Amino acid sequence: MTTGLVASRPLQTRMGTTQPRILIIEDERALTKVLAYNLQREGYEVVVVHDGQEGLRKAQTLLPDLILLDLMLPGINGLDICRELRAGERTRDIPIIILSAKAEETDQVVGFSMGADDYVTKPFSVKVLLQRIKALQRRVESAGEPADVIEHLNVRIDRVRHRASIDGKEMDLTPTEFRLLECLLRQPGRAFTRHQLMDAAIGEGAIVLERTIDVHIKTLRRKLGNNELIETVRGVGYRFREHPLNQ
Ligand code: CA
Repeated sequence: MTTGLVASRPLQTRMGTTQPRILIIEDERALTKVLAYNLQREGYEVVVVHDGQEGLRKAQTLLPDLILLDLMLPGINGLDICRELRAGERTRDIPIIILSAKAEETDQVVGFSMGADDYVTKPFSVKVLLQRIKALQRRVESAGEPADVIEHLNVRIDRVRHRASIDGKEMDLTPTEFRLLECLLRQPGRAFTRHQLMDAAIGEGAIVLERTIDVHIKTLRRKLGNNELIETVRGVGYRFREHPLNQ
């Protein structure tokens, strides 16, 4: 196996197929072999890159359905790749699972704050990784539907009518609060950094203090009449509660 394109399917034939493409950016060749083999067996199209710089480029050109990303890489490290991908309009929504030998919580927090969706610590079993990939795909698919109406834990947003309600009662939200709630509600359980929320709610490149998001969240919580729905993720930002309170 050499660096670069491993999978055999040319881009054109992907049209109309549902075979998801996974990009693996990882310099441990023994590991990439095992992963590529197992993922292909599960029906994924797999592209393997062993270098950070090349991995970033491949991610930007191939726009894979999911990326498995090592942290310690030659070229650019995984966290910088993550940051770059999240900053790009075409790559910002690609799900990323970080593969790392580091188990410390701080690295996980950094990974999440750079926009990773999940984190698997080496050594891991392929079976566990496959489960995480499938779980993430399900989450992304349900979040990625171009649904005009999103509903979760009795909070409902109708994008077309620009209406938001909780327990059937309409909420009076500012446009910023509306977009903020929509961003959180689309992916319950996913932690967003203040920066990501600012991009979603106020617009990319807007120059506002991170503190501004805290203020909007505070108002949003008040309007929801419930402080438990939007959770504070320490050291990261905020997320919308995934499960009902009594679970
Ligand atoms: Ca490595």
